[in-house]
Amino acid sequence: MTFELLKDPIRADAQDASQGQAKREVAMEQIGNLPPKLLIGDNWVEAASGAQVEVRNPATDQVIGHIAAGDGVDIDRAVSAARSAFERQVWMGLGAATRGRILTRVADAIEREAEALAALETIDNGRPLPISRSFVKTGANAFRYYAGWCDKLPGASPNIDQPEAAYHGYVTQEPVGVAGLVIPWNGPFTSACLKVATALAAGCCVVLKPAEDASLAPLRLGQILLDAGVPPGVVNIVTGYGDKAGAALAEHPDVDKIAFTGSTAVGKRIAAAAAGNLKRVTLELGGKSPVIVCADANIAEAAAGVAMGTFRNSGQLCIADSRVYVHRGIMTDFVAALREFSANVTVGDGFDETAMLGPLISRRQHARVKALVDGALADGAIAEVGGSAIDGAGYFYAPTILSNINPDNPILREEIFGPVFTVLTYDDEEAVLAVANDTQYGLAAAVWTRDLSTAHRLSRRLQAGVVWVNCQLVLPQGMPFGGFKQSGWGKENDLQGLEAYLKSKSTIIKL
Ligand code: NAP
Ligand code: MG
Repeated sequence: MTFELLKDPIRADAQDASQGQAKREVAMEQIGNLPPKLLIGDNWVEAASGAQVEVRNPATDQVIGHIAAGDGVDIDRAVSAARSAFERQVWMGLGAATRGRILTRVADAIEREAEALAALETIDNGRPLPISRSFVKTGANAFRYYAGWCDKLPGASPNIDQPEAAYHGYVTQEPVGVAGLVIPWNGPFTSACLKVATALAAGCCVVLKPAEDASLAPLRLGQILLDAGVPPGVVNIVTGYGDKAGAALAEHPDVDKIAFTGSTAVGKRIAAAAAGNLKRVTLELGGKSPVIVCADANIAEAAAGVAMGTFRNSGQLCIADSRVYVHRGIMTDFVAALREFSANVTVGDGFDETAMLGPLISRRQHARVKALVDGALADGAIAEVGGSAIDGAGYFYAPTILSNINPDNPILREEIFGPVFTVLTYDDEEAVLAVANDTQYGLAAAVWTRDLSTAHRLSRRLQAGVVWVNCQLVLPQGMPFGGFKQSGWGKENDLQGLEAYLKSKSTIIKL
């Protein structure tokens, strides 16, 4: 998951409106080529019930298409296709080098189609095109990275030294089997690519369940995989609601592993459902990331990094910062720098390439963000920037920075998932570490300081799976990503991520 979000242009040059319209048409044309169907084996089929879900453009609230509403019956069909492909060794039987070559072909195909895929993500998820492009690139990178692992699975042959007899032992890695992949709407294409690439590199066969709010680019990925030579049945895709299709996959007795990205609440339900056959579970869950801005921080750089650390993707990132603790000595200057930076932050339709922020994903999410901010304001918070929804048909919310927060207000505890963060003052390091770590989550954290020793000291003490120093939202491929505490189980994005789809076998031979 190489999110190099801050490296990519956050604002493209002004364009005339016709360019945006042309890109929108590219997206609509692709939607026309994506019938509301599920990928099961080598067929695109309707949901057994015939039911469908409307797809809305979050920038306009207009219905732009439909996806199939798969349920337990369709999950049964998809799991049995994946199981059959796995048992027949249609994927493992190709050999590691061929599997790697096919995954590389997938990366190439994604890169060739990048502009169209980005347009599809933008119309479905709402985020600005430059960010969609960066997410699509991240998806291609995941396939390229895991393609390289296919023929490098580690094995071992430990020395066995027993008095009674001589033995030879070796440890081999096998794919865990059929993996169910359940992903959220906030990075649909990237999440699909990362999970599918890792599972395929390990030799698994999969059933992917995208989020019902953003399934289009993951569906397109299904055809790209088939066209690149992934054999039918190896990857199956069932769109539909989480409590039906997702729940059926999590509890399915013939699924060996679930890899889930989403909220902590649903993650707990997945873990409980997985207990039926003790399937393996990895969970990438929510966050409430603290940021510590020290007295010696470069204020302008920190303000830009902190602001975009939330405003990127309209705050709809599990790793978005949320609670920003600023040393009292620089609070006034820092807030002034945040205001100055935010004055240039533009919000608009994702196809308008001058927009830095798009809409939120859905009406429901929009209402949730509004309720959290309104609740904080009613409780005495001050809106240093923004503080309200933006009128119009789409689900737009103004970039918002709140100060003077009541420590008991829910906005300091719950994930916001909107372009909103809070600034709080601190005086001493011990006290700020205590409040920063006082959360059920432990996904990400950041420190802004020019002192090397402070950077390392705070990083050691922050309870989070990733700590950024003088940067945010950078996750190079190969660095493990996964949360502490209730932010998840396991890691993705590196060799540990691959190992989560493998089971090791010890063979011991008496000589
Ligand atoms: P969500 O409600 O937990 O949904 C995630 C996925 O699970 C969706 O595909 C959803 O389907 C499905 N689902 C819902 N109920 C289910 C059930 N009972 N059994 C099985 N699957 C079920 O999360 P979201 O609102 O889509 O996404 C936002 C959340 O994801 C945030 O909490 C965010 O922090 C987290 N997230 C974490 C990471 C990470 O890497 N740690 C990355 C991105 C996002 P439907 O939506 O179709 O109902
Ligand atoms: Mg949509």
